[in-house]
Amino acid sequence: MKLILLGAPGAGKGTQATRLEEIFKIPHISTGDIFRNNLKNKTPLGLKAKAYMDQGLLVPDELTIDLVMDRLAENDCRNGYILDGFPRTQAQAEALDERVEIDAAIDVDVPDKLIVERMAGRRVCPNCGEPYHIKYEPPKKEGICDRCGTALIIREDDKPETVLKRLDVYHEQTAPLIGHYKEAGKLIQVDGTQSVDKVTQDIVEALKK
Ligand code: AMP
Repeated sequence: MKLILLGAPGAGKGTQATRLEEIFKIPHISTGDIFRNNLKNKTPLGLKAKAYMDQGLLVPDELTIDLVMDRLAENDCRNGYILDGFPRTQAQAEALDERVEIDAAIDVDVPDKLIVERMAGRRVCPNCGEPYHIKYEPPKKEGICDRCGTALIIREDDKPETVLKRLDVYHEQTAPLIGHYKEAGKLIQVDGTQSVDKVTQDIVEALKK
């Protein structure tokens, strides 16, 4: 099964992708995580991407599209994947359309006001990438990753001013893709304001249909 997760930054795509990965046993591919890993390892790609990420801007298509296409060619993607954070522009969606036929694009819908509140409580494990929220999905031990025991951090681009910029960019460049997948008959819309479990349940039920 080849899935895309659409939705604003902070809508819960990463959380849902982690769950869908376990349910369907297909890899979760997050372009944001790929860029952050490159940044952590100080690769040329990571250093180029950093300037855009820190400002809440999208990394240019010419750096992003080939990266994802190479990832999709890897062995573990044979039976499908969950794309989290890609495509984010019309050009990325067209590049993906040329290459594969996806099964569904899932739009996790959350109003901006709630997004801003959620982002303020977001934490992430710098080691394994597991996402948390101090109110909605806290780790068992405060400030520590359940999976690997590393101290959690606030992402640089989760700072309030960057969050607002990321939302602008989302509405301008990524939200139009909802129409793109609706026209293609691939769109599933779920109410992302519900509990994490209920959102997962709605997605799984919609996929069964
Ligand atoms: P995310 O973790 O998905 O919110 O991504 C964090 C940042 O990585 C974004 O704000 C962008 O700067 C960059 N990024 C992630 N995915 C893409 C993409 N598909 N196209 C361009 N930039 C991206």
